[in-house]
Amino acid sequence: MKIQDIYKQNKQAKKPTISLEIFPPKKDGNIEIIYQTLEELGDLKPDFISVTYGAGGSGTVNNTLKIAAHIKKHYKIESLHHLTGIMTNYQDMQNMLKAIQKRGIENILALRGDVPINSKNNKSLNTYQYAKELIKDICDFGNFCVGAACYPEGHIEHNTAVENMEYLKQKEEAGAKFFVSQLFFDNDSFYRLLDNARSARICVPITAGIMPILSRLQVERMVFMCGVTLPSKLIKIIHKYEQNIDDLHKAGLEYAFEQIDDLLTYGVDGIHVYTMNRPNVAKFALMRYKE
Ligand code: FAD
Repeated sequence: MKIQDIYKQNKQAKKPTISLEIFPPKKDGNIEIIYQTLEELGDLKPDFISVTYGAGGSGTVNNTLKIAAHIKKHYKIESLHHLTGIMTNYQDMQNMLKAIQKRGIENILALRGDVPINSKNNKSLNTYQYAKELIKDICDFGNFCVGAACYPEGHIEHNTAVENMEYLKQKEEAGAKFFVSQLFFDNDSFYRLLDNARSARICVPITAGIMPILSRLQVERMVFMCGVTLPSKLIKIIHKYEQNIDDLHKAGLEYAFEQIDDLLTYGVDGIHVYTMNRPNVAKFALMRYKE
């Protein structure tokens, strides 16, 4: 089933669309571990599960397809295959799309991917300079529902809100049928994105991406990788509990739970939980929804 139709159905039923994100094991990791994780995630009956795709050939890319196909076949849950355009040429992308289609996957999250540090100035390596070009190629290929990323606080390489909206609109015009947001810790940033997007006549569903915090290191990585803002409430939580990892997990999950509660009350189109392959994170974060 196409994810755009899931959003439509849920909207008619006045329900949010609930989705989870997982990532394939690293190059030498055991794929069976992810299947055990999926057993537990499948029980939560999300509307779809997305599977990340390693940029720049990190060795996890083939596993994305295997896992996405497994989700659909074994759990009858729709899967969303992430796909990055960076460092990939047109023909390789066409072959990739054929392989994805052959496994029965109907939904792709089309991303540019992060530019590898050692090729930042080498534009010739990038057939797909922006995600919108990949979105268009996938739509032209046919029979896929394509989603894309959005950034409540702007993408780390760019900063004006006007540009943020302009580029989002271009992705919708290229064929994106829904957006999944970058994680954020301050719901107001997501509400501002929604207001700006609707003013810019961006009409497709926009899902809120929530990542419960697990450690100070993880949060620091996110802040510097994604440029997200840390509200003082969260900084104080980290400060209070950082010496006790269990208490920090608990407080982090509660913070995410409150974020989700507020988003659901606001009436967002959907919630996307970055599970970090931890079923308990998804279970706890979605408790409010399941109540
Ligand atoms: P784009 O939309 O192309 O944006 C890239 C940059 O170009 C931004 O700075 C943007 O402001 C700018 N830009 C866009 N259009 C224009 C234009 N017309 N003119 C000038 N500048 C422009 N990465 C992975 O490697 N694998 C994954 O599985 C993955 N999953 C993700 C899932 C989500 C929900 C999100 C939010 C991100 C994910 N990422 C993933 C990270 C993503 O690849 C990076 O954030 C990447 O740097 C940007 O990807 P994009 O698709 O948003 O690119």
